[in-house]
Parts: sequence; structure tokens; C-alpha cells
Amino acid sequence: MKTKAALVYEHKKPLVIGELNLEPPKDKEVLIQYWAAGLCHSDVSVRDGVFRMPPIPCVPGHEGAGVVLAAGPGVTRVKPGDHVLVMWVPVCGQCYYCLRGQFQLCADRDKTRLGRMLDGTTRLTDGKQEIHSMLGVGTFSQYNVVSEQSILPMDKEIPFDIAALFGCAVITGIGAVLNRAKVPPGSRVAILGLGGVGLNLVQGAYLANATQIIAIDRFKQKLDIAKQFGATYLIDATQENPVERIQELTNGMGIDFAFEAIGKAETIAMSYQFLRRGGTLVLVGIPDGEARFPLPLQEMVQFEKAVLGCYYGSGDIRLGLKTILDLYKTGRLKTDLMISHRYSLEEINVGLADMESGKNVRGVIVY
Ligand SMILES: [Zn+2]
Ligand SMILES: [Zn+2]
Repeated sequence: MKTKAALVYEHKKPLVIGELNLEPPKDKEVLIQYWAAGLCHSDVSVRDGVFRMPPIPCVPGHEGAGVVLAAGPGVTRVKPGDHVLVMWVPVCGQCYYCLRGQFQLCADRDKTRLGRMLDGTTRLTDGKQEIHSMLGVGTFSQYNVVSEQSILPMDKEIPFDIAALFGCAVITGIGAVLNRAKVPPGSRVAILGLGGVGLNLVQGAYLANATQIIAIDRFKQKLDIAKQFGATYLIDATQENPVERIQELTNGMGIDFAFEAIGKAETIAMSYQFLRRGGTLVLVGIPDGEARFPLPLQEMVQFEKAVLGCYYGSGDIRLGLKTILDLYKTGRLKTDLMISHRYSLEEINVGLADMESGKNVRGVIVY
């Protein structure tokens, strides 16, 4: 069959809209019609070659939700007609990592990272060459074939555009707070960078009953939304020095938990300075491969400061998403506030530019 898609043929260039050939699903794969796809900074990193994978040409997009149209042989997790959301780690459930509950590190990640199906082949071509799909899901294609390991069924009442965000920013932010940092009630928390993930770090801290939730960004619009997500104090980094302000707000002690959601060496170094003795910094934003960060090692030991990496919310992704779906259904999540603009696939380059300029909290492609 044919599908319309947005493609990267050349790094650092606008995405190209094209029509591709899509092969039917093979073993344990399904054909999906996407109804929504989230625009995320990771897609820009793929477009610009900051992430070296997947190889080009490729279809970016790793946040999505839609309907299963057909199932290949051996599919047991979903059936045609199911509404599903995308997980960009294809959880196998039986590798070394999955058996230890570290589903986000599943060994099958290494296969879809290459932009291929779990069997190492691709289902998309442009007539001349094979086309890779970002993380095996390529949601910037109206139709795509994905492994059944990459999707999770959901109730039909959940809107597709909201569900698309659950599978990336929402679980990453909330999971970092609840699973990785295990923030206890009464904690003092600071969040640097209020994109989609950062706002969900705020939301996670609120769900964890943190009593001081300090949100930091350079954009007023994002600070305002953070307030609605539960931030108790806002720092506009264009007006105030966040390190000094946090020292003042904590009577010179520093914060219990800092979360960095930008992924730059300078902002990581800054976030480390927020910490009190015994405090923990959780790195959630993904830096480029060359980024390095010098640590004050003596202080780390003597003051027991910890720095943790956190990927995809650290933990059982399926359980985490089921919990998020339930929290949303019972009105406990403010995900609707995150979507500031909706775009057609043809408008995708405008949507990515709006995100890069800070105009958008989160933009979504609706098919
Ligand atoms: Zn994302
Ligand atoms: Zn696994």
C-alpha cells in the first residue's frame, strides 16, 4: 500500500513530504493508521543528525497513537480495531534487563534504534531505496508497520493526540520522579527546562506530594503552564540567577532533587549546584554524544551528592503507561494544557520551527 510521510533525506534540511510504499506486516507486526503524532526535540535531533541513528533516509516521529488495521502472523498483544499508543522502546519482557524490571533498557532497543524492524529489515521504500523508521515506529507516516512490542492498547475514549504525548514526554517526566528519583512526600524539587518532559516532571513532583516545586525556564508562557501543573515557585532564568535564587528559597541549604530536562553540559552543571548535601540530580534531557561535564569529586563523596541518568521514565513502561491512562481518565493529569498547536503533516516544518523557537509547549500532527 501507499502512505504519505515526512522524511529526512539530508541532515539539517527541512523534512520532505513524500509518498512511500509500505509492505504488509510480518511475524508479530501490525499495520497501524496513525491519527496523531507528537513533535519532540528528539525528532529535530534526528533531522539534524545530532542523533546518529536512524540512518537516512528515514521517517522521524516516535510519539504516536492510532488504530490497528491489520495484524501479521503470531500477534497476540493487540487485534485489528484496537486503539493503541506507541512506546519507543519495544519491550520484549524476557531479556536480561526486562527480567530485572529495567524495561527501558530492553535489549531489543538496539535493533529498533537502527530504524529497522526487530528482524533487521524495513517495511518502507520510496521505490528506489529502503526507508528507515525512527525507533521502529516512524510516526510521521500516516500508515506504518510496527512490532507488537512497540504498542500498547488503550480505551477508545482516550484522544489520540493526548495519547501520543503519554508515550514520550508524559511517561518520561512522571517516571523520572516516581521511578528513578523516588521522590518522597514533602520533598523540595527543582526542574530546569519546561518543555514537554519538564512540565511532566512538575506534574510528577505534584503527584509525589513534593511541597516545594521550583520550575525554571526562559519562556514566560512555559512558566505559566508549569504553575498550572503544580509548580510552587517560578524562576525566569532571563531575569534571575537560578542557583542564587534556589539558595535563597532554601535558606542556603539547596534542593533535595534537581531534574535537568534540557540536556546541555552548562545547564547540567548549573542544576548540580542546586543540590543540598545528600541531594540527587537526575539527568532527563538527552545531551549530544560529545557532551562532557566535570564533577567536583571531593564534594560528591563528602556531601553524598548523586547524579543519575534516566531514560524513558526508568521502569515498567507498560505499567507506567497504564497508570498514566488511569490517572488521565480520573482527571488527575493536565496533559490537555500541553498541546498548544495542531498541524497537518504538510505543515510539519512549521511545527518543528515553532517548537525550536519556544512558541510551542507541544505541537501535534493530526492526520
Ligand atoms: Zn519524544
Ligand atoms: Zn527486553
